[in-house]
Amino acid sequence: MNPPATVYPVKPAFAAETRITRDEYQRLYAQSLQQPDVFWGKVAERLDWMKAPTRIKDTSFELKDFRIRWFDDGELNASVNCLDRHLETRGDKTALIFEPDSPDAPAQRISYRELHERVCKLANALRALGVGKGDRVTIYLPMIPEAAIAMLACARIGAVHMVVFGGFAANSIADRVSDSGSKLIITADEGLRAGRKVALKANVDAALKLPGTNSVETVLVVRHTRAAVDMQMPRDRWYDAVVDDQPAQCEPERMNAEDPLFILYTSGSTGKPKGVLHTTGGYLVYVSYTHEAVFDLREDDVYWCTADVGWVTGHSYIVYGPLANGATALVFEGVPTWPDASRFWQVIDKHRVTIFYTAPTAIRALMREGEGPVAATSRKSLRLLGTVGEPINPEAWRWYYEVVGNSRCPIVDTWWQTENGGILISALPGATDLKPGSATLPFFGVQPAIVDTHGKRIEAEGEGNLVILDSWPGQMRTVYGDHQRFIDTYFRTYPGTYFTGDGCRRDADGYYWITGRVDDVINVSGHRIGTAEVESALVSHDKVAEAAVVGFPHDIKGQGIYAYVTLIAGEQPSEALRAELVKHVRAEIGPIAAPDHLQWAPGLPKTRSGKIMRRILRKIAENAPDQLGDTSTLADPSVVDSLVQERRVP
Ligand code: ATP
Ligand code: MG
Repeated sequence: MNPPATVYPVKPAFAAETRITRDEYQRLYAQSLQQPDVFWGKVAERLDWMKAPTRIKDTSFELKDFRIRWFDDGELNASVNCLDRHLETRGDKTALIFEPDSPDAPAQRISYRELHERVCKLANALRALGVGKGDRVTIYLPMIPEAAIAMLACARIGAVHMVVFGGFAANSIADRVSDSGSKLIITADEGLRAGRKVALKANVDAALKLPGTNSVETVLVVRHTRAAVDMQMPRDRWYDAVVDDQPAQCEPERMNAEDPLFILYTSGSTGKPKGVLHTTGGYLVYVSYTHEAVFDLREDDVYWCTADVGWVTGHSYIVYGPLANGATALVFEGVPTWPDASRFWQVIDKHRVTIFYTAPTAIRALMREGEGPVAATSRKSLRLLGTVGEPINPEAWRWYYEVVGNSRCPIVDTWWQTENGGILISALPGATDLKPGSATLPFFGVQPAIVDTHGKRIEAEGEGNLVILDSWPGQMRTVYGDHQRFIDTYFRTYPGTYFTGDGCRRDADGYYWITGRVDDVINVSGHRIGTAEVESALVSHDKVAEAAVVGFPHDIKGQGIYAYVTLIAGEQPSEALRAELVKHVRAEIGPIAAPDHLQWAPGLPKTRSGKIMRRILRKIAENAPDQLGDTSTLADPSVVDSLVQERRVP
């Protein structure tokens, strides 16, 4: 069922100059498992500690003896590691490049020195407003430099930040504010996305009228678009009015390695978001090391991760990882398709971006528009590409590789979760041969295993549920306010292991292929079929831009396959095309995977972070539109209505 994948060997240019060669990967990986204290103790030296840790790893996934503690007698401050320690050698280096929503608005470059100053001023202002160590602060901002500044200012004074994605509305803000018990909110008058205004301050006002939000004492408002907004004194304060006159130095709080750094709610693909809590030392060691190793970071790189700071990717790989490493990171306010589908590639040329990290949803959306918008740009500064968020269909991988990267740049397909803090499975560009659609091999210290539904370990080649056998430093420590939910969700299903919730196949070379979420696996006549595989077969047809596949109850087979298909721009649906696509899947995978029903979908329901929500599509396929569950994290609820109306009766 799985023909051998094409292999893309390590590029000679990377093999020659890389930080981590193939041999080093193998040697260090073995050491990281055999002597975790030695390995991680050494890696931890990359940070500046106020008190260096003497205890390194103290973890157990056994329920009777459960604990996750890393570097737990160490003390440090995350903002000092991201700012102060660079001032001497990199004070004038650009820390952040800000590219606004509109290509006509001027870009900004913020040096490490300036960033340090701006963070210190806000940190002083927060202290003056009564925020201290352990207090929670909600950040609800557009993708502007103040988002990173706010996170680092919280870290400086030991406050726990909780970022809410700027695309969420009042209800979602209120839920998260209430769950986290935030004392202060940092927001802006308005956000800008694709030329449209987003009423951030008004959303906060509406949220604070909802029950459970009484903990909020102050709302700081950044003047971004300078729109007139309703200011309710004394609760609401203009950011510049309280920040500008603060001293440019701020004494950082000494934090224990296991003190909380932030809370972040998961994207909600499978249900109600969970308040994932990350701590300071292990998280920062892990994100800075993975960022350097996976992206093979060099001093002069211009690094661009297109995620929003509202997601964990934005936390780990726009703010904490890159800044801890003294890198130059680009912050982009806009969207990939506005003013046109060339926008990403133009930004790459404009700022000479060398490393570009994005999501399959963006790649598929841009692929839908054809090669023209890409070909109109040079992209010759690029040397490495990355992807995260969903399985990347091999077809989209090849387009990314050949068209965007001109077959010059390796692609690191990075598998990880909000819960993980940082990347767990990924190629290292100088060490790992690539296979399109595979996240390839585990990072140092990460021990993936595949188990069947009874928890029996599948060795060598095989498919099943992906678990991780032992802790890594970036692992979440609890679900905020609900430690039992943490244990029950991740450590009870397959005792003694961390259960990821994802399905996975390991091939003969030991490469990992994420097959989709376990809840989404379809069981057709006793055959377990991963959604990712059928979707990739559909997307490999040249008229298909995107596909989502779910199971529905089937009298004979147990479950049948229901496919939703979005065509590329300009293609028209027809019965002939429908038959052709079913035949195509049959030919690509086998008759067992042929969709029983195929519905045209002008759009698919996605989370705000761009992930397909198959749980909702399953309910539509089952004809249970009244049981859609929590839809608050959907990007565009109207997509669902039209799919319900057009449903094909199985
Ligand atoms: P929730 O947990 O609330 O349902 P979510 O799982 O979408 O939301 P995230 O933590 O943002 O929240 O996403 C992690 C999930 O994304 C992984 O479990 C996996 O299903 C998917 N994923 C991320 N990166 C990859 C990748 N490179 N390849 C395949 N799948 C990926
Ligand atoms: Mg998840």
